[in-house]
Amino acid sequence: MIEHEQNAEQQHPGGDLERGGEALAALAHLKSRSLEALRGRATFQPIHDQDIVPVLPCESCHDGGLRAVGRVRGRGRWQRVHACDTCGMLHLFDLPNAPPANPLHE
Ligand SMILES: [Zn+2]
Repeated sequence: MIEHEQNAEQQHPGGDLERGGEALAALAHLKSRSLEALRGRATFQPIHDQDIVPVLPCESCHDGGLRAVGRVRGRGRWQRVHACDTCGMLHLFDLPNAPPANPLHE
């Protein structure tokens, strides 16, 4: 367990990490039309329960955390979608190294 967490932190320095399932559970109560619109995009890919995703501080309410939702493709690049579990603010972060399509190998 400890080794696993250390490895994860090395990949994402400076941020907390959680499972995709935890992020989705934290956002389950959130009612956001903007988020629903994003989820409705043709290029939207939801995160998976076992994905390791960063939790980032929300700069809008300075209270909640930005939990990962999934990612969308726009303007030729992938962006990971985060939503604040407190105020519902959406943030998109560029994923420069993401593969162009079908990144999930199951
Ligand atoms: Zn917030």
